[in-house]
Formats: sequence, C-alpha cells, structure tokens
Amino acid sequence: MIYQRHIPNEDLFASQLEMVMQNGRIASIAANLLGVAAALALFWQFVPLTWLLLWASGVLILLLVRSLFMSNALVERHYQRHPARVYWGLVLGATLTGLVWSSAFILMAPQVPDRLQQVFLLLIFMITLLSLGATLALREYFLAQLYAALWPIGWWCLVHYWEGPFNLLVGFVTLAICGLMLVVSERVHASIRNLISVNWQRETMSQELAELTNSLRERNRQLRDARRQLTDLANVDELTGLGNRRLVNRVLQEEINRARRNSGILSVILLDVDYFKPYNDTYGHLAGDKVLQQLADVMQRAVTRAGEVVARYGGEEFILILPGADEEIALRTAERLRQLVVEEQIPHGESPVAPFITVSQGLVSVSPDGDLIPGDLVRLADQALYRAKDEGRNAIVVA
Ligand code: GH3
Ligand code: MG
Ligand code: MG
Repeated sequence: MIYQRHIPNEDLFASQLEMVMQNGRIASIAANLLGVAAALALFWQFVPLTWLLLWASGVLILLLVRSLFMSNALVERHYQRHPARVYWGLVLGATLTGLVWSSAFILMAPQVPDRLQQVFLLLIFMITLLSLGATLALREYFLAQLYAALWPIGWWCLVHYWEGPFNLLVGFVTLAICGLMLVVSERVHASIRNLISVNWQRETMSQELAELTNSLRERNRQLRDARRQLTDLANVDELTGLGNRRLVNRVLQEEINRARRNSGILSVILLDVDYFKPYNDTYGHLAGDKVLQQLADVMQRAVTRAGEVVARYGGEEFILILPGADEEIALRTAERLRQLVVEEQIPHGESPVAPFITVSQGLVSVSPDGDLIPGDLVRLADQALYRAKDEGRNAIVVA
C-alpha cells in the first residue's frame, strides 16, 4: 500500500467505546427488560411477590442508570476526553447486570420446579448472547456480563449437583460455554478492532485528500495569477508604462481579425517626435526620457474610446490603434493629440519647427481584406509619417 495511516491507540479505543455504547445500549437494555418480564412470569407463583418486585425494581434502576450513563457519555463525548472513566463505567455496569442474573438464578431457581429452572437458565443464556454482537467492540465489556451472569451459575450447579437431575450437566456445559466464549470472543473482537481501524483510516484519508485537493486548487490559482502578471509585464514598456511592441503586434492581429469578421474598419496612427535627436544632444538623454514619459501621458489622455490602445512602438515612436474608427474619427484624434502636445509647451530650443516639442503622425484607415497583416498596416502608417516629416513636421498625413 502506497498510502497508509495508523490509527493511534487512543483514537481506536475511543472508537471502540463509542461503538459499544451506540450499538450496545438498545440491544442490552431491551434484552434485559425482556428477561425481567419473562422472569416475573416464570416465578410469580413460586417466589414471594415482594422479593420478586424488589429484584425487578433493582434491575430496572440499574438498567436506567446504565442507559443514562451511556447517553450522557455519547452526547458529551466523554469517551474522547475521559476514556478510562467511561471504560470502567461500562465494565462495572455489565458486571452488575451479569450479577443480577446469576444471583437471581442462585436465589430463586431452587424454589421453582426443575423445568422452570432450566427455562430460566436458557433465558439468561439468550440475554447474554444477545448483547454479544453489539458489544464485542469492547471485549471486557462483553466478558464482564458473560462471566458475571454464567460463571457463578455454572459453579453453583456443579456444587449442588445432587439437587437437580441435570445440575451436573448444566454446570459443565455452562462453564464450557464460558470458556468457548473466551476463545471465540478474542477472534471476533480482533476482527472488529481491525474493521474500526480500516474505517478510521479511510475517513482520515478522504479528509486528507480533500485538503490536498483544496491546496492544489489554491496553488493552481496562484500559478495562474503569477503567469498573468508575467504576461502583463512582458507586454509593458518599462519607461512609459505603455504597451510595448510585443503588445502592438498581438493587438493589431486581433483587431484585424475582428474587423475582418465584422466587416469593420480599423485605424492606426504612427507618431514620431520631431527633432528628438537634437533634443537629447542638447538637454541630455535623461531629459529626453522625461519627455517620452510626458508624451505617453498626453497620448493616454487623447484616446478616449473603449478598445483604443496606445503603445510605444520603439525609440521615440508611438502607435495608436483605433478599432472601429474611420478616417474622419482617426483624423480628429490625431489632431487633438497634436494640439495636446503643443499645449504641453515642452521647450525645445533646437527645433526648426517651433520653440517647443512637436510630433508628426502618419495615419492609415482600412477595412481589412483577406491577406492584410499587421506589418502592412504599420508600413502604410510609416510611409504616411515619412511624408508628414517631409511636409515640414508637426503634421498629420493620411496614407
Ligand atoms: P525626426 O524624427 O524629426 O526626423 O528627427 P529625430 O532627431 O527625431 O530623428 P530620429 O527619429 O531618427 O531620432 C531618434 C532619436 O530618438 C535617437 C535617439 O537619440 C532618440 N531616442 C530613441 N529612443 C530613446 C529613448 O528611449 N530615450 C531617449 N532619451 N531618447 C531616445
Ligand atoms: Mg524616429
Ligand atoms: Mg524623431
């Protein structure tokens, strides 16, 4: 077996106690009650009624006390916290009950005819054996009742062998049955213990399996989150926090597919900072980086419609992907963006166009057909951008 759990002895013991009380309570109480009723019916003509009633009330009180003890122990789960107390309580109860029967036989049976005596003995056998199946989880409990009830009777019959015709036989048989029970009960009891243990193992295993499944599920969720974070990071440009070229390629492909499916339209704007090299040369590369970050903020303000994406395409070039925007809408966006950049008034002393930073934009709008790929769109936008540069910069040209 690959997976094995051993039930700790305390737990096994507690399970045995619980089993005896759950199964044994009803069985032994009911059997004893029936026995009392039968004894009254057998003896009332031969034994003084007061004796008989006193004895019956004693037995009933004993049964009541035992029953209450067991229910209380079950409800309060005493068998887990004070197993020894419950154990001794049970064994004592079984012994006293056994003694009730052997004493009844020894005291009352001699006063009744032989035949009734034997019926009574048979009755005691039956009562005792009835509790066998139900109480063997705790062997001592079973043996206590068996021995307290039958052992004294066996000896008494042997000792008084001349008083009844069958006393000798009954005595031997009773003692033999006690001995046989001693042997048999050992085997059966071992099997029951094994059964409890296997049951316990199965329960623990299924509990642990459930916990394992839960923790695996949690681990999976964490992995998924981590993977998502990694993917996000892989698509983000470090300097500006915008999407990077990788993201652009993916989004462009998705938007081309979508537009193709819906016979929709798609616009792309490629944007390049004018005279940025002279800017870097004059103000330094760090200042240049700051400008790129500032422009990134401006661009994010310029795109307002859902689904529109701004990304850094590389160096000081940016791209705007405008799904569903036709040329007119895209032009409006480009113009708004151009103005927003101008309004930023980022000083640029080396630019022949203006004393501040400006941008040029190339724009393309398409309804994608069969074989258009993202590269085609960027190339068209780039050609338009080139013309915008040619036409004097701070300009927008449509492909
Ligand atoms: P124009 O586009 O108007 O023709 O002139 P330009 O000077 O901007 O020419 P080009 O677009 O070829 O110049 C690109 C420059 O952008 C080169 C490099 O100094 C600068 N650049 C590219 N990436 C970065 C960056 O990450 N940080 C900074 N500070 N500068 C960058
Ligand atoms: Mg450039
Ligand atoms: Mg440039």
